[in-house]
Amino acid sequence: MQNLTQKLKEFFNIPKLEQCERVLCVQPHPDDADISMGATVAKLSELGVKVFYLTVTDGSAGSQDESLIGQRLKEIREKEQEKAAETLGVHELIWLGFEDLGDYSIEQVRSKVTEQIRKIRPDVVFTVDPFLPYEVHPDHIKCGFAACQASSLYRLPKLYPGTCDHQLQAVGLFNTAHPNTFYEVEQRHMERKLLALSQHKSQFDESSLKMLSFYLTERAKHYAPEPGKLVETFKILPPSMLHVFPEALEF
Ligand SMILES: [Zn+2]
Repeated sequence: MQNLTQKLKEFFNIPKLEQCERVLCVQPHPDDADISMGATVAKLSELGVKVFYLTVTDGSAGSQDESLIGQRLKEIREKEQEKAAETLGVHELIWLGFEDLGDYSIEQVRSKVTEQIRKIRPDVVFTVDPFLPYEVHPDHIKCGFAACQASSLYRLPKLYPGTCDHQLQAVGLFNTAHPNTFYEVEQRHMERKLLALSQHKSQFDESSLKMLSFYLTERAKHYAPEPGKLVETFKILPPSMLHVFPEALEF
């Protein structure tokens, strides 16, 4: 198995992230990509890679304060995401506007993501890992599956009319339990990420921001190959391995 996985890795050409022209991050809520890959986004943007955020839901359910949820929170979170994205150098924000914790389907999201893959023509699509054990949040599960399905099937006119000559090179999963990529970032990228997170004031008060910053910094150190380095972790797969490849787990 080890040997076969190695051969498959040699066969499939996974691009270096910094050599990409365009990267599309499909996130369930306005903050997920910042939390899980913000330092990578800061680094890639600095290197001239165009990073697009495609946010599936409007974030309108993300509060325990009943007076805030709905339209008001949606507007607040859009502004927070705009500021955070500016901090990280995100090229463009696109909103699908599905209701946070709403009754929408994977299929509905899948066709919207397919449309954006065809339009943006990214080298890599990032999203939450829908195979994360113990993940229960329906928006995360639906977003991850919709983006993975779109990344596998985007050329089919059944999902979106017309032909497509674009070749997506890889799918990157964040919040993954099976990382195969430990992407090195600098301290300044980590600082930018933490600054971006501080923009999401409706989501993190001072103490939860402190806790989150501690966890993310320790995590970045823990998975690094040597002391003093920082990484963000992903599972990066060729899109074709999202269908009928048992080896995808170990890839
Ligand atoms: Zn989320």
